[in-house]
Order: sequence, then structure tokens, then C-alpha cells
Amino acid sequence: MADVFCKGCGALIQNKDDRLPGYISEELLEKKDISEVVCQRCYRIRNYSEVYPYQVSNSDYLEVIEKIKKEDALIVKIVDIFDFSGSFVPAIKELTGNEDVILVGNKMDLMPKNVKPSRIMDWLQLMLNSQGFTVLDTVLLSAKFGDNFDELMEKIYEHKKHRNVYIVGSTNVGKSRIINQILKRYLGVASDILTESLSPKTTIGLIGFQLLDGTYIYDTPGVINKHQYMHYLSRPSYKLTVPNREIKPIIYQLNEGQTLFFGGLARLDIISGETGDVISAVTYFANTLNIHRTKTAKADKLYLDKLYSLLSPPFSKDEDVPKWIYHEFKVRDNQKYDIVFSGLGFVTLRAPFCVRAYAPFVVGVYTRLAII
Ligand code: GDP
Repeated sequence: MADVFCKGCGALIQNKDDRLPGYISEELLEKKDISEVVCQRCYRIRNYSEVYPYQVSNSDYLEVIEKIKKEDALIVKIVDIFDFSGSFVPAIKELTGNEDVILVGNKMDLMPKNVKPSRIMDWLQLMLNSQGFTVLDTVLLSAKFGDNFDELMEKIYEHKKHRNVYIVGSTNVGKSRIINQILKRYLGVASDILTESLSPKTTIGLIGFQLLDGTYIYDTPGVINKHQYMHYLSRPSYKLTVPNREIKPIIYQLNEGQTLFFGGLARLDIISGETGDVISAVTYFANTLNIHRTKTAKADKLYLDKLYSLLSPPFSKDEDVPKWIYHEFKVRDNQKYDIVFSGLGFVTLRAPFCVRAYAPFVVGVYTRLAII
């Protein structure tokens, strides 16, 4: 097939992968007049006012960023509250050349109900300070339940002035869901919606929707985040792994020399605890993920014998979970810390402690001041 470009977003038309730009099914492609073809994503936007997740390679992402750089714009940066470090790109101001950023923490509904939003806001501020990052405003959302969108839109209008708005975020932070909520609630019917290609024959596209004052709000593609477990698991395993409803914390009283397995996806060994004996560990993971406690001395053998059964997901070798490595964390003060397995969950412990956290080498594992 000669190269054909989508009339909506300018992406190269392809029929191999529906998460990548320019996808259209083979069947539809055969039926369409080539000069009029639009990709599945643009078709959905035009006909159903529905934005669909969209992934591009790093180099295509940088191409989008280069376009934003030419403009004085307001950036709305989405992060996943549950996976802040995995989804926060500190260089976003340098990349886009735009100082004005509203930070949106999405997936608030995953946090236990007894955690006050003000606590999450304070914690986000600490995280931003530690990165030397300032924002105009912060908004907490649940795109799933549509919470706090009025506040988001008010802040966008307050800060944008005459400028366009770009919504940015790595894949899986909920950007598509957020844009769909904005379209549905504030931008009305499909006929108001514009899909546009900023330059013909580009491999990526920015899609803009006109706001009430005539400026545009742009959806930008999410950069693929290879550090997420989702790239290595089957869909059923992924569903059991990634939380999609309020997390119920579980408390474990652990001794030195004990280990927790989180399915067959991560492991935490207690090397030494606060007082040398019992240490309280609070786990925040999907309620569907099986957590198994054992003695560290038996953990390696258990993993060899019981991976795919007791220690699951993953459920088979076909799920190509990369090799594990461990990270050792020694903390000496007496504050509470989270040991975070990026995108999977976290364990809260009071220091001083020394622990080893195991996960596939591609997955970010780190410690931070406790969020809760
Ligand atoms: P995108 O890749 O950033 O466009 O993300 P999507 O909008 O496709 O969402 C990624 C995943 O996160 C999907 O499984 C969504 O259902 C889920 N998701 C998005 N927003 C929320 C939210 O507010 N709460 C919860 N619990 N899940 C969400």
C-alpha cells in the first residue's frame, strides 16, 4: 500500500496496532476512498465526541513538543496520583518552553476514602518542591467519576487568558478520560469539534477542540512509558494487577527475615526493622492482587516452585515479565516512608529500616515520604 495519511490528524494510516496513530481496520480500509480516509481515532472524535488513548514513540513525542514550543500556551500536566514519580516528567517546562503549568492529579478515587484531599495536595506540593518545580495551580480529579471538573475548567479559564491550552501526560494517566469528560460536559456536540492536522504528512497529530472563547484545547499523544507492568502482562493479568477501585490498605506485622510477595510481580524483604523485631507494614495494592507472606530464607525457592500459581499474576511464561533485580533501601530517621513499585502499589513503613524491594528491572522502584 502506498503511504496514505489520515485526513483528520495527519498520521500515517496503518492496520497493525489500534493503540498507535493512524489505525484503521483492514476491512474498513478496503471500503474507503483513499483520498478521504480518516483513522479510527479521528472517526470516533468526529462522530461520537470521544477521544481514544493514543501512543507515540519518544521521537514523535518530541516532534509534538517542538510544535508547542513555538507558542505561548498554558500547559495542563496530568499525573497519576497513584504513580506520581512514574508519570511526572519534571522537564516539561524546558521541553515545551512554557512556564505556565496547571498540575492535575488524577485517579483520586483510588485513594482510601479516609485520606483527605488536603493531605494529598500537601504531599504533591512536597513532591514539587523536591523537584524545584512550581505550578500555577493544582487540581485533584477523578476522571472515572467526573469529580472536580468544574474546578479544573475554572482554573483553566482563569490562567489561560487569550492562549491555547495543551493537555500533556504520559500514557495511562487517564488523559483520554479527562478529555472525554471535558468534551461531554463543556464543549457540547460533535459538530463543534475540530480535528486538525497541524502539518500535512506528519507522523503524529495534535487534535484541537474549540473553547468558548475561540481558543483551542489540544490533546497531545501520551509518550509510551515502558516502565509500566502493562507492557508485559496479558489483559486479564493486568486487570488483576492495576487498581481500579478504592484501595483497601492491609497491615502486616513483619519480623526481620520475612518477605511479602505481591503476586509474582514484586517482593519486599525486611532485612531489619525499627527496633530490631516487629515492623508494621501497610500495603496499598489492587484488592485483587494476592499478597503472600513467607520467610526470606524460603523466598527464592518458593518463587521458583510457585510462580504462575500461588504467586500470580503472571499466569504463564507467555507473559514476558522481565528479569527481577533488587533495590536496597536503608533509612535512619523516624519518619514514615513509602516503598513504591511504580504503577503497581506501595508499602508504608516507619523508619529506621533496611529493606530489599524486588521488581522487574524495567519497573521504577523508589522510596518517598509517605503519602498517607
Ligand atoms: P491515557 O493513556 O492517559 O489516555 O489514559 P486513559 O484515559 O486511557 O486511562 C488509562 C487507564 O486508567 C484506563 O484503564 C482508565 O480506565 C483508567 N483511569 C483513567 N482515569 C481514571 C480515574 O480517574 N480513576 C480510575 N480509577 N481509573 C482511571
